[in-house]
Amino acid sequence: MFLSFIKMFLTLALVCSAWVSLAEKPPVRALHHVAMATDFEAILYGETSQTDPEALLSSGRAAFEAVDILEKHISNWKADSYTSLANRLAAKGPVKVSVDLIEILEEARNVYRATDGAFDVTVNPLIQFWKAREKSGIFPAPEDVKPVLNQIGLKYVLVDKQANTVFFKRQGISLDFGGIAKGLALDRMANVLAEQGVKAALLNAGTSTIVALGAPPEDTGWTVAIRSPYNKDADADIAKVKISNESLSTSSNTERYLEIGGKRYSHILDPHTGMPASGLASATVIAPTGVESDALSTAFFVMGVDGARAYCTAHPKVRAILIQDLCERSEPIYINFQDDMQKE
Ligand code: ADP
Ligand code: MG
Repeated sequence: MFLSFIKMFLTLALVCSAWVSLAEKPPVRALHHVAMATDFEAILYGETSQTDPEALLSSGRAAFEAVDILEKHISNWKADSYTSLANRLAAKGPVKVSVDLIEILEEARNVYRATDGAFDVTVNPLIQFWKAREKSGIFPAPEDVKPVLNQIGLKYVLVDKQANTVFFKRQGISLDFGGIAKGLALDRMANVLAEQGVKAALLNAGTSTIVALGAPPEDTGWTVAIRSPYNKDADADIAKVKISNESLSTSSNTERYLEIGGKRYSHILDPHTGMPASGLASATVIAPTGVESDALSTAFFVMGVDGARAYCTAHPKVRAILIQDLCERSEPIYINFQDDMQKE
């Protein structure tokens, strides 16, 4: 992972070689941090040649601290997080939680509503169900999945923003922010960096979500390559896009998946049917914020090409690159790319 980071860093340095050759160059620093069981990476540029590189590093560290605080509050694999507390107690009565949990729930609810429930952070019981099936090696019949669906639905999660409480209207509701947490974490990093005066930065979490702040010197945006779901070699990239003050996320079955009876299924689950999402090999979304691109890449995986198209028609700031999961390799489907400039 870190190697790929170094490679990306070197490529960027190369791309900016014209600028690098100038004597008066702003400093650039790269930082790495592990959080949310993922590698967080940041490339930060100083605004001018006068920018203190130490100040850049300290801004980067402050941004990573914001990620750690968020993780402490919302991860559902830390037993003492507010998410774990809510998952244990919120079906019994309102549970007081941190503002962080309220915020991520509200962000998740926006996407839940806009995607007709394709993105639903209450999928945790389904995730556990499928993990158990993966262990047993027995593919379930639809009637086995059905009872689990009674425990799914963000509409059963009530939030009191004044009191900062969460209440589950149904037994068995359980939250999992795996489809949105990294996006929110990168948004938080971008906010900290902006507050500290950093104007150009490229941030990524596990390379699946990337947030671009400003642009590198003498450029209009950050060039990001999208990997082929079929082949991870750099020369198999399916597209290159230039992004600035926006975020890009990719969901695919390449790195994480379920395997039952020798067959691979998506780790993204359809909250309506309870079945693993199918139809796409990868979904890449470019959106104004990390929260949106992260959640929407997961949602589009469930919604498929037609659903993603309908969403993008209603949301012109959202762009998508989809690869269908067909027997033969399929060409990328570009949605909301007005011209070739945006594809790079
Ligand atoms: P990655 O974390 O690998 O980058 P995604 O952002 O697409 O991938 O998120 C996948 C994770 O989202 C799953 O591991 C699970 O925790 C969660 N998830 C799965 N299905 C859904 C869904 N329909 N809605 C919301 N979250 C989901
Ligand atoms: Mg996602």
